[in-house]
Amino acid sequence: MSGIVYLVGAGPGDPGLLTRKAHALLQSADAIVHDHLVAPEILALAAPDAERVFVGKKGGGFCCPQRDIEGTLIALARAGRRVVRLKGGDPFVFGRGGEEAEALAAAGIAFEIVPGVTSALAAAAYAGIPLTHRSHASAVVFLTGHEDPNKADSAIHWEDYGRLGATLCIYMGMKNLETIMRRLQAGGLAPDTPAAVIQSATTGQHRQFISTASRIARESETAGFGAPAIVVVGAVAALSSQLAWFAAQTESISA
Ligand code: SAH
Repeated sequence: MSGIVYLVGAGPGDPGLLTRKAHALLQSADAIVHDHLVAPEILALAAPDAERVFVGKKGGGFCCPQRDIEGTLIALARAGRRVVRLKGGDPFVFGRGGEEAEALAAAGIAFEIVPGVTSALAAAAYAGIPLTHRSHASAVVFLTGHEDPNKADSAIHWEDYGRLGATLCIYMGMKNLETIMRRLQAGGLAPDTPAAVIQSATTGQHRQFISTASRIARESETAGFGAPAIVVVGAVAALSSQLAWFAAQTESISA
């Protein structure tokens, strides 16, 4: 009899942000397939005798080609296992959950998708940045700063987003932050637009840095910020100076 694969969002790190559904599936799964962004405290919730398969990729290095991950999920399900494929944040937001679901569908394997708190929402909430605000922003955009390394050009026309007036949440943006911020400004983003970098949001290592569009890339690098981090660009980022409640270590630079 064929098993089933649950593509489950583990949230951004704080185990309290795991859904009840994710928690129950973790406890009842007999195989857990996970990557490096899933917090150890969350993995510890799985049944002690569940098989754990690590398929992490770190910093763009390829431990496990995507095709192999999909093959692993299919093989486990064909062996009759109840598989939880655990992903940081939400499985359908920059998590390649779409590709895995497509592979499962093509192989005729039963699957379900369990959403998780995506890191942009969590990072903003813990940093005290309301992503929308009646006085400051009526739209939010989720973007990736790091795309498929096999793609020659960035599919994102950053200049267009510079004149949108929306709050921009950039995932995987730290490596290319200088270029991204330059292109946003070339498109019309005011250099003094507030911007925030939130690293390891919701975890014990949570750090945040508030600056401006023209300065954040250089300053956050000097301050030692790096992945995993969310960059929030827009007027709302300035509210963090009043609303930050979680940061153990907040470094603020006024514009
Ligand atoms: N599916 C995930 C995103 C995976 S892409 C989600 O919904 O959140 C990996 C990127 O997510 C990282 O480079 C970083 O930009 C972001 N990220 C994941 N966890 C994070 C955290 N705890 N704090 C800040 N950014 C995080």
